[in-house]
Amino acid sequence: MLFISIDEVKYMLAKIEAIRRTALEKVAAASSSEELESLRVKYLGKKGELTQVLRGMGALQPEERPRVGQKANQVREELEAALQEAKTALARREQAARLAAEKIDVTLPGRPFRRGYRHPLYQILNEIKDIFIGLGFDVAEGPEVESDYYNFEALNLPKMHPARDMQDSFYITSEVLLRTHTSPVQVRVMEARRPEIPVRIIAPGKVYRRDDDATHSPMFHQVEGLLIDERVTFGELKGTLMAFIKQMFGEKLQVRFRPSYFPFTEPSAEVDMSCGNCDGSGCRVCSYTGWLEILGCGMVHPRVLSMSGYDPEKVSGYAFGMGVERIAMLKYGIDDLRLFYENDLRFLRQF
Ligand SMILES: [Zn+2]
Repeated sequence: MLFISIDEVKYMLAKIEAIRRTALEKVAAASSSEELESLRVKYLGKKGELTQVLRGMGALQPEERPRVGQKANQVREELEAALQEAKTALARREQAARLAAEKIDVTLPGRPFRRGYRHPLYQILNEIKDIFIGLGFDVAEGPEVESDYYNFEALNLPKMHPARDMQDSFYITSEVLLRTHTSPVQVRVMEARRPEIPVRIIAPGKVYRRDDDATHSPMFHQVEGLLIDERVTFGELKGTLMAFIKQMFGEKLQVRFRPSYFPFTEPSAEVDMSCGNCDGSGCRVCSYTGWLEILGCGMVHPRVLSMSGYDPEKVSGYAFGMGVERIAMLKYGIDDLRLFYENDLRFLRQF
């Protein structure tokens, strides 16, 4: 039997101490979790340096084993504690570095989206539609690029007619133009439905004219109305428009019907409302008259009826056309129509 001398015990203790010092230094210097794990394997793993020393204890005399074993276990515990502490500190540092690199603070509340809504002109247009739908009208639509025939001729405005000057437009060719009013939709609807009665439609949409000032824009919106039936009277036209105006503005505003001229209606009238901007005393918006013209109307001209295939001896009708911008200006007290098109959110958010 081989006995190991006291010197051998001293050597083993010194070796354990050397492992301890080196291992603690390396753990303290480790800069990543991976490095710490490889240190653990190197010293405490199955084939680790400290494990090897413990295995070698079998060669010691039985009374010497506890001294060496105690020292080895102390160092093992110390190393395990140092590894755990270093691991925790490293994990914290690594997370802090990741957060700094990401530059996203996930704990911040989200930025709210501002929800969009309809442009004030289209809010008004929808109100107008709702009122007329409630009065029994259908909604009809037509093209914005229109032929000379539908825009003028079929509405009793032959070529060279002086009234064409009131509606100077944007021409694509000499026969094709951007429609100057929604009235061509009347003709298209009558052609499609003849000889059916009643015809009861409104035609909302964009129209184009060569105008540009505080109350006119080269592009604006109109709503056209048309009713054809047997024995339609001017009184019905007046009643329908009064019902519309009362629902739109309430009872406060003054309304007047003023004789006028349109080639496609006979008799014709213009409907004025007292200026909401100055309460009728006169201002820039109403050209100091106290009144704003909001729509034109009249009984459909017999020639327009017959050109579209209806017999003026059997049926009659009325028609009206209004500017949506003017109605919005009256309703909201806006003094410059161009504000609707500037897309300034400070203006648009007020509605
Ligand atoms: Zn006024």
